[in-house]
Amino acid sequence: MSNSLSDSDGLHPDSLLAHAGGGFDAATGAVVPPIQTATTFVRDEDYEPVLPGHIYSRDSNALYRKTEKLLAALEGGEDSRLFASGMAAIAAIVRSVKPGGTLLAQSGIYWGTTLFLRKHCARNNIALVEADASDLSAFQDEFSVTQPDLVWLEVPSNPFLKVADIRKIAELCNGTSAVLCVDATAATPLILKPLSFGADLVMHSATKALNGHSDLLGGVVSTSNASSEVWTFISEERQNAGAVLGSFETWLLLRGLRTLALRVERMNTNAIDLARSLEAHPKVKSVLYPGLKSHPQHSLAKSQMTNGFGSLMSIMIDGGKDESLKVAGALDIFQRATSLGGTESLVEHRFTIEGEGSGIPENLLRLSIGIEHGNDLIADFDQALTTI
Ligand SMILES: *Cc1c(COP(=O)(O)O)cnc(C)c1O
Repeated sequence: MSNSLSDSDGLHPDSLLAHAGGGFDAATGAVVPPIQTATTFVRDEDYEPVLPGHIYSRDSNALYRKTEKLLAALEGGEDSRLFASGMAAIAAIVRSVKPGGTLLAQSGIYWGTTLFLRKHCARNNIALVEADASDLSAFQDEFSVTQPDLVWLEVPSNPFLKVADIRKIAELCNGTSAVLCVDATAATPLILKPLSFGADLVMHSATKALNGHSDLLGGVVSTSNASSEVWTFISEERQNAGAVLGSFETWLLLRGLRTLALRVERMNTNAIDLARSLEAHPKVKSVLYPGLKSHPQHSLAKSQMTNGFGSLMSIMIDGGKDESLKVAGALDIFQRATSLGGTESLVEHRFTIEGEGSGIPENLLRLSIGIEHGNDLIADFDQALTTI
């Protein structure tokens, strides 16, 4: 007997998160779940599993299921699957496209995704078409010409913060065999729920804000239809290809999720305040953040995002590579590191990482905004910008 919260209690997501994975367990009296370290589970005298569904941890275990059900509830989806990393989740989804098939992906998205898509598609005779999904009519044209099996969007995109119209692109996919998947890592499900706009799948790198403490790798995919062909493929792929999240990581993720609502709230406030301050700064040419009125898809972002606009932004320094690296080097609170969605603010010079030919401007700094006091973040940039 246990008393745990579920979405069927009609609670606000913030309340579900505050109790993530927990609830009173009559067997132990514990209010937080135990870490399930067992890899294998016993059968009774009649050779039935003692606990239905518990056979071997690569298939599933109670801790995964608690976490997956919570994440599915946050997305308004029917089910979720955890993976060993965001990329493992992406790989499982992409492998649903058969050789000879076509994948239409948004251009200028997370570098790791683009790299994987290019290599995987080239090796497996899959046609990969990359197009700017924030230009709806051009994307519509690509869609009609290519008739893709899978459409891949990233909203908002990393590092350009472009916002694609999920509703309109879902309408395009509707009535065709195309599966629409949205990588909503930079938003979190508290800000963006792609399934509610008609996407078939939503994925997150749980490494980022879902866990939020820069101390584990994880990924999650959720579906609007747990009996669809693509979902059957993805859940079999998780089980058979074995890219499961470890139990310790799952437990840490659940613990991180307990504070997701608070972290997102603070990050949103810090991000919009910093974005406005930087936009007004003479040493900053422009700020890419969907919460700003100057953002080219601001009204679309407002119609899709709730509670704020997330913790990711990019800024263009008034100068070149040297000035941009100088500003990054002069920051005290912002750590110079890749990744996003952690409690600590991070700064990254993407051009140094991706190099010539990547399309990344040399004066672009990508920022992940943490939960520090907002005034300290603004002051840190004010002092760093005086060095150029
Ligand atoms: C980090 C990231 C990924 C990859 O996730 P990992 O957990 O690092 O494998 C995918 N998409 C986006 C938008 C990301 O930021």
